[in-house]
Order: sequence, then structure tokens, then C-alpha cells
Amino acid sequence: EKATLENEIPFYKNQQRLILGLNLEIDPQSLEDYLAAGGYQALVKALFEMTPEQVVGEVKEAGLRGRGGAGFPSGVKWDFARNAPGEQKYVIVNCDEGDPGAYMDRSLMEGNPYAVLEGLMIGAYAIGASEGYVYIRQEYPLAVENLEVAIARAEEHGLLGRDILGSGFDFTVKVHRGAGAFICGEETSLLKSLEGMPGEPNARPPFPAIKGLWNKPTNINNVETWSNIPLIINRGAEFFNAIGTEGSKGTKIFSLVGKVNNTGLVEVPMGATLRDIIFKIGGGIPGDKAFKAVQTGGPSGGCLPADLLDTQVDFDELTRAGAMMGSGGMIVMDEDTCLVDLARYFLGFLSDESCGKCTPCREGIRQMLKILARITNGQGKEGDIERLQDLAETTRGASLCALGKTAPNPVLSTLKHFRDEYEAHIHDQRCPSLSCKQLIAF
Ligand code: SF4
Repeated sequence: EKATLENEIPFYKNQQRLILGLNLEIDPQSLEDYLAAGGYQALVKALFEMTPEQVVGEVKEAGLRGRGGAGFPSGVKWDFARNAPGEQKYVIVNCDEGDPGAYMDRSLMEGNPYAVLEGLMIGAYAIGASEGYVYIRQEYPLAVENLEVAIARAEEHGLLGRDILGSGFDFTVKVHRGAGAFICGEETSLLKSLEGMPGEPNARPPFPAIKGLWNKPTNINNVETWSNIPLIINRGAEFFNAIGTEGSKGTKIFSLVGKVNNTGLVEVPMGATLRDIIFKIGGGIPGDKAFKAVQTGGPSGGCLPADLLDTQVDFDELTRAGAMMGSGGMIVMDEDTCLVDLARYFLGFLSDESCGKCTPCREGIRQMLKILARITNGQGKEGDIERLQDLAETTRGASLCALGKTAPNPVLSTLKHFRDEYEAHIHDQRCPSLSCKQLIAF
């Protein structure tokens, strides 16, 4: 059945499902299934055939970059925590996925929690951590359940706890449920929340690798990053490094949603184009409508028009195009979507989720939202575009954390590529798209 899916159905046959593939093969609550599929061989290899330095070296050589959004080289990050002074160190899985329309981490945790745990254990061995946490959204009950079963089964079989498999390596994992605040996906907020305090970011430095959980060196990676580790250790850095582009290696999972025929999770080699994903895998736009734009990188990402459809999914290429890789959200829009309204929607989300700690973010987003709301209501004023640009620059430059720094992106990218839509709303009280026509008072 898996072979049929992969060879015959366009949605699957144009993907390279190195990380998602096992979701179709194993019962996520069965350790036996995971072992039969080659599970925990990477852990055994790391513990018995490699030194911690060699494990870090392999991850560095593989060129793995963090899949949570920042794209920082994972091996280099591991080295910071590994080399930080102190006996007690921590490793953490960030499963606080909160982008609207994105559920990559949720599906990995629901479908194959063992791979995440195995990656975490290998990372703990490499960094010298004896305790790990999984920070996971309370709104993901099946993911929490499957993760807890996976931890219990690993403990029963000596894969977690003291002297794992007789190697002398001790490691335990605890699950912490987050309460659904988007900002807790930011590393310093996540740490505060884990410590029982309100999830508000801290200025960096110090970085968590040096002063993290309870001021101890801590390494945090997201679910997809940890899931790549068993693959790298099993197949080797060379295998992984051969997939992708010069600066972005391996595969990336996207959550393909919106006005596209085939929606779902898509795993492609880095370097695939947006056109490949939306048209070859996604099957194009429903109802013979025209493609208008795609938002990559979640609510703080960027909106790219049709003439950028040949942009490669690559951390640097997407940034150069004016969008972001983010954690893998990909929302497709057709000719009927109003992009001013889209910017208003994302700014509304970010205004709700801003923690309010710093003024540029708290007030800057709120003011931009106010202007976008009046523009989409047909009450835009002369000078609103310039006011939006000013507010966007200030918010981007003066906010404390990535939420505020990236919040203006939906406004700036839609202004860059679809300025005429803003002008039509303001000057003609008219929405050129179908979607917010009804909202305009003619
Ligand atoms: Fe909070 Fe926004 Fe400031 Fe980040 S930028 S600390 S989310 S107010």
C-alpha cells in the first residue's frame, strides 16, 4: 500500500519522505514496530561506536540547520552547550508549534514519537545532558498520549533511565504541557514557562546554551530537527549532505494549505521550488482559478507573488525573496484572496499573541492592525501606506524578540508585491479581489 502511494499518487510520488515515511509504517504506540523498522540503531551506534565529539562532528558535517525557523546550524548550537562550563545540562524538544495552519511537529509526534526521542537521546549523549524535557502543546492530546506511551515503553526496555543499554549513559525525559501561548515557542519564553513563570522573552545574550533552564547550559531544538538526528547517524553525514542545496541540507516538511487542490504535509528535498510544491504535489489551484500568492514562514513570514514561484525552498533563498522558511507553514492564495485582508488577519493573530513586554511590538502591531482594519473597511486615509511603512520599520528595529521583529513582514511583503491593492482600497474604496468586496462600504 505504501509503495502504491509513493509511486502512483502525484501527491506522494514527488516527495522525499525521509522523516515522515515511517508514519505510514508503524503503530506510534508500538516500540516493537519502531524497532522492526530499524529504530534505536542510531542510538546504539552513537553510544557504542562514537564519542560525543564524533556525534557533534557528524551533525555539523551533515549541515543540518534548525527546522524551527531560525535555521541556525544544529551541530554548532550543540557545541555551544557541550562546551559550556557546568556539570548539569539539559536538552529540550520544542513542540510548541503555533503557526495558523501548520501541524508538522504535531504529526511527527503523533505518528512517530520514537524518532524524536531517539534524536533527543543522541543529542543528550553528545552534549553531556542527563535530563531532557518535551515542551508540548496541551492542545495536541494525541501527540501527548503517544509521546507518554513512547517514554514509558522506552523506560521499560532500558532505553531511558540509568546506564542505558549498559553503556554507562544516564538520561531521563519529562513531558511539560504548554497552555497554548504562541510566544512560548520562543526559546527564552519556553524556558521561563518551563520554570513556572509567565512566558516572556529575555534579551540575549546570555543564550540558553550558556544560561538556559535554571541557569544551566541548555540545548533546544524543535521536533523536526530532533527527528533528523537518527537519519544522520544511521546513514551518515555524507548521505544527508548530498540532499538539498549549498546552504540548506536534507529535506523539509511543509504544511501545504489554503487554495490548493491537495492539502497536507509535504516533505521535499531543500531546493525544490514553490512551483513544484504547489503545482506538482499540490495539484494546483481549485476551480481553475489563478494562483495569486503564497505565504511561507507562518504569520510572520512573507507573501510571494506568481513571478517568484520558481524560488527554491532554501533558508537563504526564501529570505532573499522577501519571505522566510519559518517552521514550514505554506498557505496558498488564489485570485479571490484580498492580500490587505490577509495582512490584517496575520497582524490580528500577532497582536493577540504579543506578550506585551516591550512597547514597539505591543503598540506597533496594534497600530498597524488599526490601520489595516480601516483600510479593509473602506475607510483608509491618504498617508496610511506611509504610516504602515513607518510603523513596520520601527516595530522591526526596536522589538525585543523575533515575534516583534518579524511581525511587520506580512505588511511589508504585501506592500512590496501588491501595493496596488492597498491603493485601490484607500483611493477607490474598492477591493480588487472578491474576498473582501462585501466588507467595503461603497
Ligand atoms: Fe513580547 Fe513582542 Fe516584545 Fe517579544 S517583541 S518580548 S512578544 S512584546
